[in-house]
This record gives sequence, structure tokens and C-alpha cells, in this order.
Amino acid sequence: MSFKQADFSHDAQFTYVRLSKGRNLKEHRSDFILCEYQTRPDVDLTEWDIQQVRAVYKRDEWRLQFVCRTTSDPEPPGDDVGGVDLGICNFAAVSFGSESVLYPGGALKENEYYFIKKKANCDDSLSREATRLDRKRTGRRTHLLHALSKAIMKECVERSVGDLGGIREDDETGESRNWGDHDHRNLDLHGWAWAFDRFRTPLDYKAEAEGIDVELVSERDTSKSCSACGHTDDTQRVERGLYVCEECDTVANADVNGAENIRQKVLPSLATDGGERDNG
Ligand SMILES: [Zn+2]
Repeated sequence: MSFKQADFSHDAQFTYVRLSKGRNLKEHRSDFILCEYQTRPDVDLTEWDIQQVRAVYKRDEWRLQFVCRTTSDPEPPGDDVGGVDLGICNFAAVSFGSESVLYPGGALKENEYYFIKKKANCDDSLSREATRLDRKRTGRRTHLLHALSKAIMKECVERSVGDLGGIREDDETGESRNWGDHDHRNLDLHGWAWAFDRFRTPLDYKAEAEGIDVELVSERDTSKSCSACGHTDDTQRVERGLYVCEECDTVANADVNGAENIRQKVLPSLATDGGERDNG
């Protein structure tokens, strides 16, 4: 069954689509089916111009297919380099060398708090209502993470970034950063562990769509090193979100310092000349 543009209305934010069943002539009213849908995590329908919705019956269930118009090829990316770090205080920080952008991520936390509170009011954590709340929370979170990756990519495109450094696991241990316990019942909202591992896919996907290479570098020392002078040791301090260098007296936002270190790791000139740094 196909629904043309006039016969459906789409609410991308709340992942609903309303399909018209046409005018009911007998009862003089329009009838519709309200569908709540879930997409694959790497698909964000807010970005697409939906031309048609098809309802297809397959393997005992109804599936919705969204037929979208694609835009022309993206502009070719520039040759500047950026670095993104998942932060201590902020959700993410992106450094472009001479400037940086912070993403506090407050809406992400608010979303979690809202649904935790709502779910606490459910008598049974396995009830239909509790399950519905969980699904809703995940949906909203996915939406927010997509919006965040989109915002980061927009900043990158505006600054002609072609290479974006991001963190990988530690080279020594081979383990990824300990993002913590993902048990939803014991959600630790003080850190960002619960959201980080869900952020990479949308970020990669959006970067790819913009033609930006995400280069993963080891996170080793990225939070312990000074991005201005390169000094690294375990005594370097992070106080109230500030990185303080004992060597050159630089005081920087700790998340920006981390992002800048990651950016420098993927800078081609720095990789070959042994790491000469400017103080910009
Ligand atoms: Zn320093």
C-alpha cells in the first residue's frame, strides 16, 4: 500500500507517521492510522525529504518503507583537520586548532532524568508502560545523538575540515575506554559513559555523508598531555574542568585540550616533523 505526500504526515521528532485511510464517506470524517516507528540507529529521517510511505506486509508483520528524495552530491571536503573528544564536563569538544566548540549535552541528560523519573512511578518495571517508556527514552536519545553529530559535522563543513580525529582504544591495553556499566537500572548520569558508545555510529555515518574522514587515534595521553607545549606526565592536573600545565602554565578547558591533542595526532605535518607545536 502506498501513501503519497498528501496522504501522510510525518513527525520525525517523535517518530510518528500518520497514514490516511481516506475519507470515510458514510461517517463524514477522515480516518487514519497512527504508526510509531523505529529506524535503524544510523538512519535519521529528519534529514530526508520523504516522498512516499509504503506499508508492506512481510513475514507476519507490517513494515514501513520511506521513499526519499536524495540531494545532489555533497561539496568536496576541505583539507583542514579537526579533533573531537568525548569530554569530562561536556559531552563533546571539537578543536579546529585556532578555535574550538563545546557541546554540553544538557538535553541528553534531561531526557534520561525525565524518563527515569517517569519509570520510577511504574509499579512494575516489566509492565507495558515501563517498556513503552524505555523505548521512548531510547528513541529520544537516538534523536539527540543524531542531532549532535549533525551539529558537529556542520561546524566541520563550515571550516573545510576533511579529516576529523577521534579516539580509539588504548594502544597498550587494546581495550576501548571504559565507558562504564550500561545497566539501565543503575544509570550513572554523572559521567557520559551511557551515551558515548551510542555516539560513534551516527557520527561516522554523518561524516561519511559529508565526505569527511574520521581517523581514529589512540586516546593514550590525550587527556594527560598539554596541547600547547606537548608536556606529558601524570602530575598534570585537571581541576574543575580545567587543564593546568605545570610546564608552560597553560590553563585550558580540559575537554578542549583533549580534543586539540587528538587533532594534533592526525595532523600530517606534525606526524612527520616530530611534533613541533604552535601555541595558537
Ligand atoms: Zn604546557
